[in-house]
Amino acid sequence: MPKDQYLVIGGSGFLGRHIVDQLRARGDTVSVFDIVQRYHDVPFYSGDITDDKQVAAALKQACSGTTCIIHTASPPAGLTDGSLYFKVNVDGTRAVIEAAVACGVRKLVFTSSAGVVFNGGDIIDVDERLPYPDVPLDAYNDSKAKAEALVIASNGKGGLLTVALRPAGIFGPGDRQVMTGLYQVYENNQTHFQIGDNTNLFDWTYVGNVARAHLLAADKLDVPVPAPPLSTLDKLPLSPEE
Ligand code: NAD
Repeated sequence: MPKDQYLVIGGSGFLGRHIVDQLRARGDTVSVFDIVQRYHDVPFYSGDITDDKQVAAALKQACSGTTCIIHTASPPAGLTDGSLYFKVNVDGTRAVIEAAVACGVRKLVFTSSAGVVFNGGDIIDVDERLPYPDVPLDAYNDSKAKAEALVIASNGKGGLLTVALRPAGIFGPGDRQVMTGLYQVYENNQTHFQIGDNTNLFDWTYVGNVARAHLLAADKLDVPVPAPPLSTLDKLPLSPEE
């Protein structure tokens, strides 16, 4: 089987750059599609995924050889304009899928978010069978859920294999959101506020591990995995109450 060649959409971003670095470190061919260029060491395609003509044109160019797209692009969480999330995450992801199918790309790995199943309550010991909440937490998570559903539904379309990963909070070198936000809380002298009784837990994952998960997902996407016996699935709890 020939080695995959990668296009990282959102490859100028925090996670995207770690994915690019790891692909390069293992000798893979990689290019980047993004609205901003922050690095000059890999072929770069400038464009906005909400412009389907741009995506199609860039992919046509980038895809002479691209066999795997890793799509990490998204506006950051916490924006007041919710419509941007649907434009980029839902319409943009649809454009990426269409362009991938048109170009005969074999694999699409999508960065979703753990927040797609979060509605403000505790989530403990669940897996991907947990349904989306009836009322999404916010526009960001709603748009990520809808994008993820599009990606999963497109599995098999024109031979495209798809997978969506749901990282929780990501930390590590290059982060421009989480630590900045925490530091602003400190700068604004807001550290004396406490919500809850200080026993809440939240998952964090080191960016290098999230990037590695994307590479593993891409590597394993075309490796057939035997389904576990149904009897095993039945025994797994969906939530602590069950
Ligand atoms: P980031 O903002 O650092 O990177 C996102 C990249 O996408 C940026 O380079 C940006 O320019 C690009 N982009 C945005 N809109 C675009 C568009 N319309 N067309 C082309 N490129 C566009 O964000 P990040 O923290 O690296 O997050 C990467 C992914 O991981 C996102 O999909 C995000 O939803 C998801 N995620 C992040 C976290 C976290 O804690 N950072 C947690 C869970 C999921």
